[in-house]
Amino acid sequence: MTQPAMKNEENFEDQSSMINIDDNRGLHYEENLLWEKERADTPGVDLPKPQGLKSRTGMNARGEIGLPQVSEPQVVRHFVRLSTLNYSIDSGFFPLGSCTMKHNPRLNEKVARLPGFSHVHPLQPTSTIQGALAVMYELQHWLGELTGLPGVCLTPAAGAHGELAGIMTIRKAHEVKGNTHKTVILVPDSAHGTNPATAAMCGFDLRVIPTKETGRVTVEAFREALGDGQDVAGMMVTNPNTCGLFESDIQEISKLLHDAGGYFYCDGANFNALVGKVRPADFGVDVMHINLHKTFSTPHGGGGPGSGPICVTEELAPYMPTPIVVKDGDGLRLEQDGERETSCGRLKGYQGQFGMFVRALTYMMSHGSDGLKQVSEDAVLNANYVLSQLKDDYHVPYDGPCMHECLLTDKLQKENGVTTLDIAKALIERGMHPMTVYFPLVVSGAMLIEPTETESKDSLDYFIHVMRQIAADIAAGEEDKYHNYPQSAPRKRLDEVKAAREPRLRWRS
Ligand SMILES: *Cc1c(COP(=O)(O)O)cnc(C)c1O
Repeated sequence: MTQPAMKNEENFEDQSSMINIDDNRGLHYEENLLWEKERADTPGVDLPKPQGLKSRTGMNARGEIGLPQVSEPQVVRHFVRLSTLNYSIDSGFFPLGSCTMKHNPRLNEKVARLPGFSHVHPLQPTSTIQGALAVMYELQHWLGELTGLPGVCLTPAAGAHGELAGIMTIRKAHEVKGNTHKTVILVPDSAHGTNPATAAMCGFDLRVIPTKETGRVTVEAFREALGDGQDVAGMMVTNPNTCGLFESDIQEISKLLHDAGGYFYCDGANFNALVGKVRPADFGVDVMHINLHKTFSTPHGGGGPGSGPICVTEELAPYMPTPIVVKDGDGLRLEQDGERETSCGRLKGYQGQFGMFVRALTYMMSHGSDGLKQVSEDAVLNANYVLSQLKDDYHVPYDGPCMHECLLTDKLQKENGVTTLDIAKALIERGMHPMTVYFPLVVSGAMLIEPTETESKDSLDYFIHVMRQIAADIAAGEEDKYHNYPQSAPRKRLDEVKAAREPRLRWRS
């Protein structure tokens, strides 16, 4: 039977008067599989035995189907408990850098559930879905305005899918121009792993721009990677980059790239730091994907599907994937594959994650352009507040100010044998989701913290307090316990290498 896990007495003893009402220790459930709970004499439902029926399927008659024998209350408890095992932005602070775990406004959910949106079918005749198409058209317009890139294709189903769409667009443009010699994509070494993976999937060779010294792409390092530029098809750069820094030489770099006939792909996952303040087209971007599930607050990470529209320059618009919503007389319609001769083709069934389009547009319209500007200002302010409060306790690899996320390392704590992993596990003990760890790869023991604009000062202060307490404990020689956290979580330290090498995907081997 299920037992609540014991609360460990050796938990952190919080000396200060700070009590966090979000702290979620205690009353954890250890939830077994339904099959482990079953008893042969416990039927879930009582159905009468069918009388007088002969099997008509002969040898295909169905045998035992092996469903667990459990009662209705057991089933209800099981699934309700499972539903609480996932830590989420709705349950507590979630400072996962690069992932923008911001609050998902309930207004978005309300609008997405209006029957006119939730009950439409993608195969309905166009004349009956003019309202849905208007949502998509309007969203294309907002994204085009915010980026300064007027060609918008909404279909990609995630950020990485948007990258694929964007690089395929660039590849198609080069193909149509006959640039067969352009085979190389430049990528900084701090890039998100999906960037080089996308370029490689599209058949490009990669050339890496080193950034370790400054955390940024310098003009010098860029020139070196560019060479004479003959073979360079484009570059993929995140701005602000994965160290949370604005690429200060980006204008000069994009000019050099354009002069060499290359296109600038901007990974737009970090748009939360710029939205409403800066139009990426103004610093030379040709193609950018937008993570609606990051910047525009649609739920992700177990809460909902991703959505990664791309925005491109007027010049590249003919090469984008389809479908795209276009004006058609007084109404709207979907421009399909085959209609745009030079399109790189269709990437997804139907027209993308429509429910996410509704939520993102609701978010944009309820904030307005001034509200969106404040989103990025507050996101940057919150990250700099965290940085300013932790910079004396943790090593800061690149001087601030930062953008919407701040980067620390475990350099000081490592002197006492405590690593980033230990610190992350200690945060779990304290009822908070850890920050992003060991990314970007160029920084040893990286801890990337993105508080987002939706956290209150109280929750930031509590996080800062816990992080300082951890640093103080370690500095005071109390490092041993840090190798054993979490204690009160149902799962302690997992053997991650073994899990990856020998995954057990069945409960009965
Ligand atoms: C999240 C992220 C991506 C990928 O987005 P997905 O929706 O997870 O595919 C790409 N680049 C960066 C910098 C990101 O943070």
